[in-house]
Amino acid sequence: MLPTEQRPLRVAIIGSGPSGFYVAEALLKSGSHITVDMFERLPAPYGLVRYGVAPDHPKIKNVIKVYEKIIERPGFHFFGHVTVGQDISVEELKKFYDAIIFACGAETDRHLNIPGEGLKGCHTATEFVAWYNGRPEYRHHQFDLSHETAIVIGQGNVAVDVCRILSKTADELKNTDICQHALDVLSQSHIKEVHMIGRRGPAQAAFTPIEVRELEEFLNCDVVLDPKDLELNSASQRELEDPHNAPKKKNLEILKHLVASAATQQQKGKAKKLFLHFLKSPHEIKGNGRVEKIILEKNELTGEPGQQKAKGTGLIEELKCGLVFCSIGYRGVPIPGVPFDHEKGIIPNIKGRVVSSNGTTKTCPGLYCTGWIKRGPVGIIGTNKADAEETVQHLLEDLNQLPACEQPSTEGLLGLLRRKNIRAITFEDWKKIDAAEIARGQKVGKPREKFVSIEEMLSVLK
Ligand code: NAP
Repeated sequence: MLPTEQRPLRVAIIGSGPSGFYVAEALLKSGSHITVDMFERLPAPYGLVRYGVAPDHPKIKNVIKVYEKIIERPGFHFFGHVTVGQDISVEELKKFYDAIIFACGAETDRHLNIPGEGLKGCHTATEFVAWYNGRPEYRHHQFDLSHETAIVIGQGNVAVDVCRILSKTADELKNTDICQHALDVLSQSHIKEVHMIGRRGPAQAAFTPIEVRELEEFLNCDVVLDPKDLELNSASQRELEDPHNAPKKKNLEILKHLVASAATQQQKGKAKKLFLHFLKSPHEIKGNGRVEKIILEKNELTGEPGQQKAKGTGLIEELKCGLVFCSIGYRGVPIPGVPFDHEKGIIPNIKGRVVSSNGTTKTCPGLYCTGWIKRGPVGIIGTNKADAEETVQHLLEDLNQLPACEQPSTEGLLGLLRRKNIRAITFEDWKKIDAAEIARGQKVGKPREKFVSIEEMLSVLK
């Protein structure tokens, strides 16, 4: 179809996180006649910016101002509290939209698949992050912080977030937008030791320099690592010579600085300790009904520079602990009626065009994807911008072949939702909820106090 001013191309975007907003921006800036309706499962927009970014990282959340500018663009509408695949099917949406772009991220997490993972006290980082950030589905989760030792498996930025939240004092968190229920539990925490476990070496760790540098700033927690762990094999040394690995080289410098300052100050004797372990894989979690200890296997690195893998040496050590958080990456979840690659946890696609299954070139006309559900759960917020532009470029190339939808009307769609008893939340509705959260926060010296249930959010609109 050839979009005109009278009959613009109608695009539905599923998901309101960074990838959804960048794809909306690319569409609305393209110069073609396009309208965008964005659908979000929760009443609140912004996805992982609201429910993933750590509360003590307020600057990262400033990106919301950029998204608010996109929302103001003519032709953009937000509809929260609508779950595509449940409240409305993809087939139903196709009647009202010429193209659908899935920007629904990677909602669940990867598992270790080791014995004991199901024991009480073993959690995924996703659950913990969603709980302290007030995601409604997770508000009743319980984390028993009456234990003294917590283990965090993985060395990505999410693992660092989890370690930081466990290692900080309540005073360091109380003026952030952390939810009150989480702050209450954290302020009673008995945790004295947090151990972050990486299966490969410091030259391969997935965290980034800004995040690792923050570890030097704890008020009441010393960072402890074995200087021997920072000695690199020759393949790792060669890896760090690659200019692409400049951030990893920086990581190593910061880690060396941490070791040096610990040595000169003889560890500062702070109440908590965060231990960074390298070259260790979790083997088994043991306990009688609940987590009591974790068995780790010492690894060595094998393979060519850039492709080094962790290989078990058979050397075993155990750590007593009461909590384990598994932070080894996210996974996408399937949407009914949309192809899904279960192995990779993404929608199969060729540069944003959805294909019927992995390995084929048979595209699904009118279906596109962007962000983590397109490429997997890698990259920071800004990475989604170029990714979205690629998807939009292909959508625009396909314009001539896109079949026009039967009923090009948002009113028609909203009528269907009303008949189904679904209360769609507009952006104006959200701004009222937003203002109420900010007002609640102001009373307690926080940027906002989030509503942690959908009912509470909706009650603001009554
Ligand atoms: P990630 O960066 O992919 O890190 C996953 C970690 O889990 C890696 O250390 C990985 O080790 C390890 N791992 C994977 N499988 C494992 C296994 N079977 N056993 C032991 N360890 C295993 O994932 P993430 O931390 O969830 O972060 C996702 C994305 O969000 C990243 O791009 C991250 O930078 C971004 N993010 C950014 C920020 C920020 O900018 N502040 C905050 C949070 C998240 P290997 O390297 O050996 O595979």
